[in-house]
Amino acid sequence: MRQKAIDLFIKTFNQQYDVYPLSVKERDNCYFFLLKDKEKKYLAVAGKPADLQRLNFSTKKEKKISDGELDLLFKICHMTHENLSQLQLIFKYLKPTCSKKFPEPSFGTGDRLGIATPAHIQAFKGKNIFPILAQLSTREITRTESSLQRVMDNAIWGCFEMGFEGPFGSDADHIKDLDNLQEAINCGFTLYTLDPSDYINNDIAKYSKSELKQKYQELPERHEIEKRYLDREFNIGKEKLSFGQDSLAEIVLTYGEAIKYIVKFYKFLKEKNKEDFELEVSIDETPGPTSPLAHLWIVSELQYRGVSFQNLAPHFIGDWEKGIEYVGDINTFKKELELHCQIVSHVGGYKLSLHSGSDKFSVYPIFASETGNLFHIKTAGTSWLEAAKTVSLCQPDLYREIHNFALTCFERDRFSYQLTTDLKKIPDIERLKDEELVTLFSNNNARQLIHITYGSILRERDEEGRYRFKDRIYQTLFTYEKAHYQAVAEHIKGHLDLLSL
Ligand SMILES: [Zn+2]
Repeated sequence: MRQKAIDLFIKTFNQQYDVYPLSVKERDNCYFFLLKDKEKKYLAVAGKPADLQRLNFSTKKEKKISDGELDLLFKICHMTHENLSQLQLIFKYLKPTCSKKFPEPSFGTGDRLGIATPAHIQAFKGKNIFPILAQLSTREITRTESSLQRVMDNAIWGCFEMGFEGPFGSDADHIKDLDNLQEAINCGFTLYTLDPSDYINNDIAKYSKSELKQKYQELPERHEIEKRYLDREFNIGKEKLSFGQDSLAEIVLTYGEAIKYIVKFYKFLKEKNKEDFELEVSIDETPGPTSPLAHLWIVSELQYRGVSFQNLAPHFIGDWEKGIEYVGDINTFKKELELHCQIVSHVGGYKLSLHSGSDKFSVYPIFASETGNLFHIKTAGTSWLEAAKTVSLCQPDLYREIHNFALTCFERDRFSYQLTTDLKKIPDIERLKDEELVTLFSNNNARQLIHITYGSILRERDEEGRYRFKDRIYQTLFTYEKAHYQAVAEHIKGHLDLLSL
């Protein structure tokens, strides 16, 4: 019956469309599937006219077909938010859930272009890792001119395309203000990553001892805090951690305001969000690493203040540059991670989250084993790099234009990142043959060039206000969809393989 309906559809529309076979779903004698013509994807809904009447899909065009045996109405619909909401009413699994309901570790696959979810789903196949498929930071959303709703919708359409029945999560990443938080709640996000970096005082190390003392003594809450921490010893694994006057003052002055921010945002979430949710506290965007002692203080303070959080993203020791391997001494990282993990088991109730996780292959096995599989990892830019790599393979001329443009905006765009990129070490693309362009994606400097200039590339317009690259990038990836999906899926799978113990 199902196959017959699809065959009839293809025959009726004269092979104008390709059906995504995995997407075909049946419910109450109606069929739902995704298809594409030469330019776009659509949702198709098919069934007996009486059955379809109950459903509220807005339709682009429809056709009645009768072949004697079957009497069906086919509706072709745009992939709008409203139509997606209708689908979600029918297929409840198209809604994100909290990873905390599941024992396995979680992994976020940010998708800057909003078309990579099907590839991400392929990568997760057979892995015991909870996928967070909708995930984009506030910064990425601004730079790609997207929105939280679009990030969510794109991921869910991707699930539908693959016939994926979940579970999956959704992460409103690096939320910094209440408007953003409210928007994320409205969109039904399940994981909220709060980023208090604007409230972290990064200047403490520059203070003199007397300045530090003076600033600390001005804090009205210091007596309360001292009662809880000063000169107390915490047995963390084999180590004893204790807060002396100076170290406590330093930590409180650095993170005190950030804690207040988290408490405020958490209360807001509890009040406004009636659904189950989970919280990540991200303190990774600081100039220096989070010391184990600071970690202990932050989580103890959050728990004391009644904040229930599931993930903590410290700034781990070493350099976490975008899109390339870990830079630093891996043994030092391992040793310090051990201590962080012991704090997690001492305090309990949350897992460690690793940001800028793209391409940190050497770190993964250590991170998985040290945390005892109690971890979350985020990647995003690496999927964009695979998209750009696909463009270089399928439309070399377009890639050359993008590359040359990226070189002109790198210096401006690098300000929000800690990078050691040396543009001089990128081969001159005029000297590369088309088929050699792909080698740029094995060059760390070229990777970072494309990784961080994505926003400028996607937003650049010509004199007439048309996008200079964006539409052509999407068109290329649409035409060469299989190649794009394959590149992304293999690359993400390469990450996940290292995490499967
Ligand atoms: Zn982060």
